[in-house]
Amino acid sequence: MHSVVCIKQVPDSAQIRVHPVTNTIMRQGVPAIINPYDTWALEAALQLRDKHGGEVTVVTMGPPMAEDALRRALSIGADRAVLLTDRYFAGADTLATSFALASGIAKISETFGKVSLVFTGKQTIDGDTAQVGPGIAKRLDFQQLTYVSRINEVDVKAGTLVVERRGEGGTQVLSSKLPALVTMLEGDHTMAVRRGSMEDALRAARTEIVRWGAAQAGITDLTKCGLKGSPTVVKKVYAPSPRAEKAKLIGEGSASAAATADEILSAIFTQAPGLEADLLALSRSSAG
Ligand SMILES: Cc1cc2nc3c(=O)[nH]c(=O)nc-3n(C[C@H](O)[C@H](O)[C@H](O)COP(=O)(O)OP(=O)(O)OC[C@H]3O[C@@H](n4cnc5c(N)ncnc54)[C@H](O)[C@@H]3O)c2cc1C
Repeated sequence: MHSVVCIKQVPDSAQIRVHPVTNTIMRQGVPAIINPYDTWALEAALQLRDKHGGEVTVVTMGPPMAEDALRRALSIGADRAVLLTDRYFAGADTLATSFALASGIAKISETFGKVSLVFTGKQTIDGDTAQVGPGIAKRLDFQQLTYVSRINEVDVKAGTLVVERRGEGGTQVLSSKLPALVTMLEGDHTMAVRRGSMEDALRAARTEIVRWGAAQAGITDLTKCGLKGSPTVVKKVYAPSPRAEKAKLIGEGSASAAATADEILSAIFTQAPGLEADLLALSRSSAG
């Protein structure tokens, strides 16, 4: 079974600051990491390879420095890495990104063996749109399984898979046909992203990364790539302004817990006139 995992190199958002004057993101000195959800996607694909055999290819669309993320994925255990890089891809929004990735995956399928399963993360920690996975599935005409926390089983012969999908208020168990695209959550307690062996680390350093520009990825219509293929325009970026109102500290230096409770209640009732009368009426009606 051949799985493809889409990984994006992102700045470690825990270390990002917004410039207080220009409101632009200050990236200097911020380390680049593989988007965390994508590492879970890679782990899920590697577990399937452990069980069923086959290969795992990782792919990213990005600048030449994104090669670092691909080497990291190889050191975790991926078999092959493909970098889609071209000046025509620059300035891509999610529509153009999913177009380039879908074209690249179709080419990977043609070149290295039929792809049955594509994994993406649920979303990135920098763009946060969660649109790229579904965009790829639509373009490749693959079944689409989003917010997946676990792959329960894959029947390669029958061409089916069963996954757990986390939704609001519960978990759905879904069965689908292959080929499919899965957008992966952070996994569940049964999963941990592996570190990769020493052998994998050595292989990662030696392996040649496959580098494709638009033409090698089979793209003939360049108007669908990069800025030209991006209908979305970012009009303004700004940091949220701090709240004008500050929280009020109640109870500091109060004589007792009861006095603090009184103070809290009186602050609440001042903020919400009528609430006290409503609560009294409610307690009388439930007592009667
Ligand atoms: C008008 C416009 C211009 C932009 N210009 C630029 C620019 O010049 N440079 C720039 O870096 N960004 C640019 N962006 C941001 C860019 O569109 C997003 O980074 C990209 O489309 C991915 O969106 P996302 O981060 O929300 O991914 P999501 O949809 O949240 O990602 C979901 C999953 O898709 C996969 N994925 C996403 N992106 C990639 C990728 N590149 N390679 C492999 N897998 C991926 C990952 O598995 C990820 O977990 C621009 C956005 C807009 C709207």
